[in-house]
Amino acid sequence: MLVYKFGGTSVGSVVNMNHVKDIISTKGKKIVVLSAMSGTTNALVEISSLIKGNETNEAEAKIKALNETYRKTVFDLIQNKALYQEVIQYVNSIFESLLAAVNQPHSVLLHNTILANGELLSTFMFSRLLQQDGLKVALLPALEFMRTDRANEPDNFYIKQNLERLMQNTNEADVYIAQGFICLDVDGVITNLERGGSDYTATIIGAAIEAEEVQIWTDIDGFHNNDPRFVDNTTALSHLSYDEAAELAYFGAKILHPHTVMPMRALDIPLRLKNTMDPEAHGTLITNEVNGEGIKAIAAKDNITAIKIKSVRMLLAHGFLKKVFEIFEKYETSIDMITTSEIAVSLTIDNTTHLESITGELEKFAKVAIDDYMSIVCLVGNHIIYHPDTPELFQVLQDVNVRMIAYGGSYNNISLLVNTSDKLETLQKLQRYVFEDNSVAV
Ligand code: ADP
Ligand code: ASP
Ligand code: MG
Repeated sequence: MLVYKFGGTSVGSVVNMNHVKDIISTKGKKIVVLSAMSGTTNALVEISSLIKGNETNEAEAKIKALNETYRKTVFDLIQNKALYQEVIQYVNSIFESLLAAVNQPHSVLLHNTILANGELLSTFMFSRLLQQDGLKVALLPALEFMRTDRANEPDNFYIKQNLERLMQNTNEADVYIAQGFICLDVDGVITNLERGGSDYTATIIGAAIEAEEVQIWTDIDGFHNNDPRFVDNTTALSHLSYDEAAELAYFGAKILHPHTVMPMRALDIPLRLKNTMDPEAHGTLITNEVNGEGIKAIAAKDNITAIKIKSVRMLLAHGFLKKVFEIFEKYETSIDMITTSEIAVSLTIDNTTHLESITGELEKFAKVAIDDYMSIVCLVGNHIIYHPDTPELFQVLQDVNVRMIAYGGSYNNISLLVNTSDKLETLQKLQRYVFEDNSVAV
């Protein structure tokens, strides 16, 4: 069976929802995971923060405006009278619950409940669009099978069992539609897989049913060799290995949620990225096959904090790093980059929740300096550290202010830490140097 995932833009308008309908109108059973219509989750985040700030009138106005947009969409989408009535009633019930939330005390639970409505709306509307065309459709409510465990990882056993049960109960369906992004936590309370999480939903489902392939359909023709939001002349890559794609996604390539690749890699299930607006384009196939040599793609991750830890004894005495790492482990804070010298170690984190406590403990035996507003620029490719042209890359660094370099940690990655204010220039220079000059590229 295939699992398809369509992102916000793909379901963001009546025209695009009809494109999606055409794409999935092939023979055979399939699961279709949908995001909220583009802009909806952002609007819901705003509504939640207005409620939190007791800005009741503004929150109500925003809810009513969003309701109006949905009424118009439903009117344009569904012509069948009975189905139209059913969808409008559903939409109204969602917006009534949002209006009721305005006067409730704000909490994390209320926030997550508000955010879940985007995916609930898009999947309900889309399921009725397919029914209108006579397709056999069943909704697979994510809140009845998608769950995380104590470690905040997908509870794969629970997911598989409940997904199979739900699918058996609606055995006659050809198209199963599930909400991306939303799930229950270990206590059975509504939460989500973090922004962009619908990609991850699709691969978790793909692993649970041991899908033939998972396809992520979005608004671009596959994984590009650099971030197209910041750099001109980027090009789509026809193939990436799981490790390359995972590394790029983890280091900021927005096309994939950072954890998307893991469930596919574990079971060796192909992951394909395709463009809803241009279904004929090849897209990117991600498998365990590794090909090419040298730098293949570049990505950047923001909100990085660098911590310089200088041994007060002026020597990296043995056991020093152990003490440092134990503190990060205690506060469940993972380290992305690390470099050492004789007297100091510099490392980076992206989760600063416990920064104060971590710094406090480090200061008991070291001098600590913090740099924030940093970005990691990550270059990925097969055996890049051995590629004869790679050392030339360091010429480009003469023009950019680099705070840290990680070279050789793996054969397939070079990471640079730069000030976020220098990120754009760094990405653009690297693009020209690596891919346009032909001096370093494969
Ligand atoms: P969706 O709503 O379908 O999940 P996203 O906006 O999350 O779509 O992801 C697609 C977007 O990711 C693209 O439109 C593009 O701007 C951005 N992007 C960032 N880096 C890359 C990259 N390396 N390749 C392709 N797209 C990228
Ligand atoms: N709707 C959610 C978001 O905007 C999840 C997703 O689109 O993947 O983050
Ligand atoms: Mg996305």
